[in-house]
Amino acid sequence: MKIEANREVCVSAGMCALSAPEVFDQDDDGIVELLVVEVPAEHADSATRAAAVCPSGALRHVELPKGD
Ligand code: SF4
Repeated sequence: MKIEANREVCVSAGMCALSAPEVFDQDDDGIVELLVVEVPAEHADSATRAAAVCPSGALRHVELPKGD
């Protein structure tokens, strides 16, 4: 799966980095940074949870896992 992060709407809440630290980080201003281009299967659940709790809607799936 892939996740897209819109840095224009990110409000630096940090929920993504807390929920899926293997996938998301924050820069010095707290704006989301993607650590991976493609989310490994073992982190798909936590990345999906992170997108669900993001208060600004900055995170979006662009591809769902195959077979789901
Ligand atoms: S949870 Fe959403 S608003 Fe908060 S840092 Fe991550 S992308 Fe930005």
